[in-house]
Amino acid sequence: MEAVQNEKEGTKRGQISIHTENIFPIIKKFLYSDHEIFLRELVSNAVDATQKLKKLASYGEYNGELGDDLKVTVAFDKEAKTITISDRGIGMSADEIQKYINQIAFSGATEFIEKYKDKSGQVDEKAIIGHFGLGFYSAFMVAKEVEIISKSYRDEEPISRWVCDGSTEFEIGPAESRVSGGTERGTDVVLHIAEDSEEFLDEYRLRGILEKYGKFLPIPIEFDGKVVNNTTPIWTKAPSDLTDDDYKNFYRELYPMSEEPLFWIHLNVDYPFNLTGVLYFPKLKDGFQFKREKIQLYSRQVFITDEVKDVVPDFLMLLHGVIDSPDIPLNVSRSFLQTDSNVKKINSYITRKVADKLNDLFKADRAAYEAKFDDIGLFVKYGILSDDKFYEKAKDFVLLKNTEANGTPSRYFTLNEYREHVQANQTDKSETVVMLYATNAQQQHGYIESAHRRGYDVLLMDTQIDAHFINALEYKLEKTSFKRVDADTLDKLIDKGLNTESVLSEEDRTKLKDLFEQTLDNKSLAISIESMPADELPVTITMPEFIRRMKDMSALSGEQSFYGSLPVSYNVAVNANHPLTSKILSTTDAEAQKTLVKQVYDLALLSQNMLTGADLTAFVRRSVAQL
Ligand code: ADP
Repeated sequence: MEAVQNEKEGTKRGQISIHTENIFPIIKKFLYSDHEIFLRELVSNAVDATQKLKKLASYGEYNGELGDDLKVTVAFDKEAKTITISDRGIGMSADEIQKYINQIAFSGATEFIEKYKDKSGQVDEKAIIGHFGLGFYSAFMVAKEVEIISKSYRDEEPISRWVCDGSTEFEIGPAESRVSGGTERGTDVVLHIAEDSEEFLDEYRLRGILEKYGKFLPIPIEFDGKVVNNTTPIWTKAPSDLTDDDYKNFYRELYPMSEEPLFWIHLNVDYPFNLTGVLYFPKLKDGFQFKREKIQLYSRQVFITDEVKDVVPDFLMLLHGVIDSPDIPLNVSRSFLQTDSNVKKINSYITRKVADKLNDLFKADRAAYEAKFDDIGLFVKYGILSDDKFYEKAKDFVLLKNTEANGTPSRYFTLNEYREHVQANQTDKSETVVMLYATNAQQQHGYIESAHRRGYDVLLMDTQIDAHFINALEYKLEKTSFKRVDADTLDKLIDKGLNTESVLSEEDRTKLKDLFEQTLDNKSLAISIESMPADELPVTITMPEFIRRMKDMSALSGEQSFYGSLPVSYNVAVNANHPLTSKILSTTDAEAQKTLVKQVYDLALLSQNMLTGADLTAFVRRSVAQL
């Protein structure tokens, strides 16, 4: 940096030491989508300067008046086409402006150009934006000329004025007064807005940007006579100083349109990284639903983004709230973020805190926890699927809910409790505990009831994530399998190796099978003759567990998959021991025999909600004719 004496007294001209002439058009072009960030950057600088002064005062290094209102003011003038950001912070002397603004602030730009030159062809706009901190020079995204008028907190320093028009040349010299007309300590940054950025000379627009990025800045930000921010958001306070209402009110402040949260976690850690925040568990009754509310990421109370994908574990993206950490590298690219060790630590810290909180709730008040489980089950199950460490903790507080049986209301069990509950009656001959479940208590009612009649318990697995959850549990729990109640006949679902005797001879069974095959005449049905208790239905239609579950899982992922495209196959089990079966065999009139076969088959379809259209009409007509 060389500054040369100018003819105007006390004013110097200089060259900003950048090797490339026109960096600003490039900055402008590539930072296009985030132009509004200039205000975040300049207001943050003003806040920093104010906090530095407060620090100096607290160390006794500044003995002057702090002033009653250490605030930052943002103003605009539509006529003059200026936006001015003023603070009462430490200010800068002429030397400091040269050092901090010309050298430090612009050094980032040099780096930018170097990086830019490295890249040939395609340039990833987002990666460039995130590649290094946009500092002061982001002002040139919207301004054709920028003035800094600053008075250092040190009494002996005069007011200085720096002007730069976006080329690499600047002017610096003494000034009479601050923008306000006074001579008090602090800095004004005056942006002379470029023609293509005049949209920012608008009250509504500026307020919007300030509210977005500066809503929780620690120093009051005044715009149009009003303070726009809450300087002490709850995450900066100690949990012991806060009431439930404080947390609820803050939630409303963040998401004015949302229902009350279920509960929350106050995060506070300062080693090995710095992180504070409050995460809320929202009500999420219907599984995965699109939510506008997202976790917001802050760095020292400056809003950064609500795209927290790499910072927060995937399964916790459904939470709401705020995370504030100066240790998250916000100015590096996505791929770096994914491998950054701080980010990884933050990720596992949050996972652990969430698991601990859920465990505390479960232990402290089981009834209240159960009442909330329909809402939090999704997080817990999703967490179990995606994170083994989380599973290790969650296996003790994830709950299974059973279906109601003969007036006994449904209950919640932990994994261990449920195993205890069904072990005696539902262990098959290979020592595997078979857990029966239904995905729809209404549609599968007949099957559930048959299971209950044998003293079996049936779980309710009726949320979208359950197919995956069941799969994960089978993998993690030893000697355990899950089977949907309609996946097979009960004797086969829980095969205890005790065959019910058949009242039919081998010859009769073959005859019966042939009769069903000819009458139903459908190649996609696998017909078998089974010896079942006489009080079970004469025909049961089942859908094998494996393919059905794979289909359910691929439906949730929303992707085309091999299993998704497979046709559904059905098994038709004819109960050899049912009196109607004997009646069919002993019927001599061929037509009457066929009618009976169709009738028992249609009844089975009906109980599975599968009888529709012409088949249903024919069934009704046939039934009416027989009355
Ligand atoms: P960063 O804020 O990341 O250090 P900037 O380019 O935004 O980078 O600013 C460079 C430096 O200029 C700051 O570190 C600070 O020393 C100085 N500075 C910028 N704005 C102000 C201000 N309003 N008051 C005092 N100093 C400032």
